[in-house]
Amino acid sequence: MNIILLGAPGAGKGTQATRISEKYHLPHISTGDIFRDNIKRGTQIGLLAKSYTDRGQLVPDEVTCKIVEGRLQEADCSNGYLLDGFPRNLFQAQELDQFSKVDAVINIDIDLSLLMDRLCGRRVCKNCGESYHVNFLNGKTICEKCGGELYQRKDDNEETVGNRLKVYNEQTAPLIRFYTEKGVLRNVDGVGAIEEVFERICKALDR
Ligand code: ADP
Ligand code: AMP
Repeated sequence: MNIILLGAPGAGKGTQATRISEKYHLPHISTGDIFRDNIKRGTQIGLLAKSYTDRGQLVPDEVTCKIVEGRLQEADCSNGYLLDGFPRNLFQAQELDQFSKVDAVINIDIDLSLLMDRLCGRRVCKNCGESYHVNFLNGKTICEKCGGELYQRKDDNEETVGNRLKVYNEQTAPLIRFYTEKGVLRNVDGVGAIEEVFERICKALDR
């Protein structure tokens, strides 16, 4: 099954993607992770992407679409994939239609007023990518799953989060209508415990 996880920054896409990927045996493809990895390695894509990710703006469509098209051709995607963070505007969604067929779009629905706190309090494992929130870490700085070091993403600050939410409203939110009209959108309430939200997603996928 080819699945897209849609939702505002901080809605819980990455958190849920880990769980969905494990249960349904699908590769988790996060364009944000791909860009961060390129930035860390200092590649040409990384150098270009950094100027956009640092400001909370979208990396140009041409670059992003090419990366995703190539990634979906890899062997591990032959039985399906889980896209997280792509597409992020109508152009990307239309491009994706040209090179793949989407079966289900899970929209993690959450009031935007909750997201500033979720994102500014987010801590991510350097090793496995698991996300945590400072409020639940009790001062711990090590990942519960793998023992990796936790860090705060550079773009998880008030100013950049403000930009990212604006970009979401203007460019990504219209995809809800786009995929509703295609008959593939499945809405899931994103408020509640992580495991509760996961159960809702599984129900929506198994429907
Ligand atoms: P996204 O990938 O959509 O940007 P994340 O999955 O990284 O979002 O989650 C953003 C923040 O919200 C993290 O700090 C994470 O621990 C927290 N979070 C995720 N799901 C929930 C939830 N159901 N309830 C409360 N906080 C959550
Ligand atoms: P994320 O990890 O999904 O929060 O993404 C982090 C940043 O990577 C975004 O703020 C963008 O700058 C960039 N990015 C991720 N996915 C895309 C995409 N599909 N199109 C353009 N830029 C993206």
